[in-house]
Amino acid sequence: MAKSIKTLQIRHVDAGSCNGCEQELTALTSRDYDMQRYGLDIVASPRHADALLVTGPVTDTMALPLEKVWGAIAAPKVRIAFGDCAIGCGVFQQSYTSHGGLIDSDLEIPGCPPEPGPALAALRDWMGSHSRGKSAYLELGPVEIN
Ligand code: SF4
Repeated sequence: MAKSIKTLQIRHVDAGSCNGCEQELTALTSRDYDMQRYGLDIVASPRHADALLVTGPVTDTMALPLEKVWGAIAAPKVRIAFGDCAIGCGVFQQSYTSHGGLIDSDLEIPGCPPEPGPALAALRDWMGSHSRGKSAYLELGPVEIN
């Protein structure tokens, strides 16, 4: 049977973004990109999520909240680094308040900010090539930040 994940409920955390990534993330939910038709949605509570999507370089003040949100998402779960800052190669990488993004992610969506079209394609490609099986997800544990 072919691997595929049909839906992904995403809890987004702005971990110190400049808001550029948020604008493009919002565009994904717009009429033009309408990511909900592909089973993707942004949810308000981590209790309703099976994915954590992080934007920004993970500032000092956001490190603990980020770990708490990650801990509140039930397993199996996945983490997504959205944008160069979250991946660890953004313009705020060297900032004294920055942890430099996530160390490890299931999916990295590059760009500063990522364009909605390629971002949606990356999400759909990842969903199409993974299953809900445990091996598709990182081992449980705290979010690792640089
Ligand atoms: S990747 Fe670019 S757009 Fe996104 S938070 Fe960093 S600087 Fe802003």
